Amino acid sequence: MSQQFVGQSIKSDNPNSRHDHPNNSTCVEPCVVPHAFLRSASLIMCRHASLSRPLSITLVSLSLSLSENATMVTKCSHAMKSFPRDLFFFPLCNVFLLCVPAGWTGLFLSPVLGQAVCMPQFEKNTVHMKDPERVEQIICSMIKGGASKLQIITDFDMTLSKFAVNGKRCPTCHNIIDNCKLVTEDCREKLLQLKNKYYPIEIDPQLTMEEKYPFMVEWYFKSHTLLVEQRLQKDKLPDIVRESDSALREGYEHFFDRLHQHSVPVFIFSAGLGDVLEEIIRQAGVYLPNVKVVSNFMDFDDNGILKGFKGELIHVYNKHDGALRNTEYFKQFKDNTNIILMGDSLGDLNMADGVPNRENILKIGFLNDKVDELLDKYLNSYDIVLVKDETLEVPNAILQKIL
Ligand SMILES: [Mg+2]
Repeated sequence: MSQQFVGQSIKSDNPNSRHDHPNNSTCVEPCVVPHAFLRSASLIMCRHASLSRPLSITLVSLSLSLSENATMVTKCSHAMKSFPRDLFFFPLCNVFLLCVPAGWTGLFLSPVLGQAVCMPQFEKNTVHMKDPERVEQIICSMIKGGASKLQIITDFDMTLSKFAVNGKRCPTCHNIIDNCKLVTEDCREKLLQLKNKYYPIEIDPQLTMEEKYPFMVEWYFKSHTLLVEQRLQKDKLPDIVRESDSALREGYEHFFDRLHQHSVPVFIFSAGLGDVLEEIIRQAGVYLPNVKVVSNFMDFDDNGILKGFKGELIHVYNKHDGALRNTEYFKQFKDNTNIILMGDSLGDLNMADGVPNRENILKIGFLNDKVDELLDKYLNSYDIVLVKDETLEVPNAILQKIL
């Protein structure tokens, strides 16, 4: 029996969504969730919007045989014991009236209905969605497809890695090298000047990706040239990473372990420095066989001294081209037609462009900076936007349903 996703607990950022009617006291919103447990029966949940905070009323109408009804009563009674006192339960023939605290509906129904599940993680105030019903549909399709149809395509810097800890910015792969002790003060100063010039352009909401593109190439070219001049040593990289403040988002162990257990391919597509990235995930113990890293890799001479960079440059806004260069990888997983894409930049949206067969794609965007200016753009581009959320709770909750 496949798991069902109870979308009722999802909130919307779309003003036209039927989920938010704060001033409409007569609005009762139905949400029909077919459920295998109920066989021919149907489960209709109605939420009385005017009472959605702090209490919501859920009507559960079940057409069950008498014996099934008895089972439901037993299960409901049992489940009630673990819930707060303001939860009421009225078995009225075949109609159940439940009064539960808002957001608890799915939690309550979960033990009652066995396989029915909700995602309380979606109630977090960091979670924003323009079209929660679409998200629900995609997740339901992915649940149906299971592990064998799934693949992950993800950015690294500020997506898998944290943006900030206690208000202090965390380093990107490039920042780790820029700030390491092997780089001279003079070089560090020049790299900082480049960052001060080009980072505002990278995140400027007024500029298009095409307008930003040449500036990004210029930034990478200049900073990579400075790094080559520093004659960095390959064998020093592990220490440099160990001594840095880089950190992966909370829940990363779960994320990688679960995907590995189910042999789900993970494609990390980064405009950062591949050697540093690999060292970070290796030290975190999550560079597992199902993980493939595509990034800018350093080129070292026979003595292990940095002499340049391999292959074509990947920057924040040419991931489309990079994705197309990796069609061979995607062909290997041509049956993995359900994609979870994760990024923190609008340029990351093109990372799945090389995938030949796409059945479902769920785009999760981390919005870390310039939230007020960028939220609308992100909501129009990503299915789920996680605002200043330093965790992988939401992706993990979704994976838990699919795998
Ligand atoms: Mg990034």
